[in-house]
Amino acid sequence: MRYYSTNKQAPLATLHKAVVKGLAEDRGLYMPEQIKTLPQDFFDHIQDMSFQELSYVVADAFFGEDVEAEALKQIVYDTLSFDTPVVQVKDNIYALELFHGPTLAFKDVGARFMARLLQYFIRQEGNEQVNVLVATSGDTGSAVANGFLGVDGIHVYVLYPKGKVSKIQESQFTTLGQNITAIEVDGVFDDCQALVKNAFMDEELNRHLKLTSANSINVARFLPQAFYYFNAYAQMKKMGKADNMVMCVPSGNFGNITAALFGHRMGLPIKRFIAANNANDIFYQYLQTGIYNPQPSKQTLANAMDVGDPSNFARIYDLYGGSHATVKALIGGATYTDEQIRETLLECYQQTGYILDPHGTCGYRALQEGLQADEYGVFCETAHPAKFKETVDAITHADVEIPERLAAFMRGKKESVPMTKTFQDFKDYLLKQ
Ligand SMILES: *Cc1c(COP(=O)(O)O)cnc(C)c1O
Repeated sequence: MRYYSTNKQAPLATLHKAVVKGLAEDRGLYMPEQIKTLPQDFFDHIQDMSFQELSYVVADAFFGEDVEAEALKQIVYDTLSFDTPVVQVKDNIYALELFHGPTLAFKDVGARFMARLLQYFIRQEGNEQVNVLVATSGDTGSAVANGFLGVDGIHVYVLYPKGKVSKIQESQFTTLGQNITAIEVDGVFDDCQALVKNAFMDEELNRHLKLTSANSINVARFLPQAFYYFNAYAQMKKMGKADNMVMCVPSGNFGNITAALFGHRMGLPIKRFIAANNANDIFYQYLQTGIYNPQPSKQTLANAMDVGDPSNFARIYDLYGGSHATVKALIGGATYTDEQIRETLLECYQQTGYILDPHGTCGYRALQEGLQADEYGVFCETAHPAKFKETVDAITHADVEIPERLAAFMRGKKESVPMTKTFQDFKDYLLKQ
């Protein structure tokens, strides 16, 4: 399969190149030249397949031309070592819980899949070690670090701003050891990002080290999220509730919902989608006006969705040939203030006992407001509420239990390399490794 750039000014790329480079030369996002439709027979029997089995069918449609069958199967099976259950929350509203992975974040699947795919390409070509650089304000670092943990041939450097990430988040990438190095930068997130960007542009560094990024726009990170939606459909079908299914995705950078839309293009029978936003309502405004008008991001309670210029909008635009009418017919929108998030999180807890996290809350509310009586609605619960314990406890007074997996990270010993925000220091450090 070849991959083209959404900006259409870059040469076609192989999967290998798309994964290693992340972004095309013209700064566009890679798209597969073809999206295969899956046979009716697959959908007829999907409810009898395991998460791993059905995901392999989906993965084969995307990556089967470029990765040997047995290896691809191993990558899929290794990535999906946990389930994503669908849980009824209230009436015809269901939560698709995506937080049962290693760091309790839905980004775990994409990160692990990318790590395994990269390893496959490295082994095939007998290449030297690859170094992944990632700047994080919290969640991406933990998903990437844990996804790449123990994957030989790849070393990961996680750069994070000193004192600016939560203790829980910090513990998820500073206590791992092995092939993961945490770098504590005396600066803010933008300084970390600048160090990474400069490293990719530095010729001397690139002559000595093979560098790559694990950005969320990478095809190997976002496409595997399509597995979630096939699994959600399978579970709803098993319960006899898959007719008129509406899928609601709390969205920030729009990678997760784009993967869902790829699933739809492959034939997944979902009636319509809703992108639920916090106060960062760029997509919502686009739906209203047809104009995409990026804004500086606003800080909210659902901070993993604080994105003012969602990268994957370019993919959605491309997928529907730039037609506002087509996008609008298939995807609805919603936007909620912090006040509304608080109100709904509390109300849901009081009425149902289900504890939402601030991101999932946006999805739940969008279904409550937008679902018709003959529809079944499924929203993604994208994070475990314990990851936002302070916020959630303050709203519900429920004292959310911290899962053992999270507690184990917090008991680990923190190890990180102190770093200034001066590029030369970072470069010298990397050259000595
Ligand atoms: C990353 C993230 C989102 C947003 O997903 P996108 O793919 O960027 O739209 C929502 N909720 C949580 C908890 C996240 O970590």
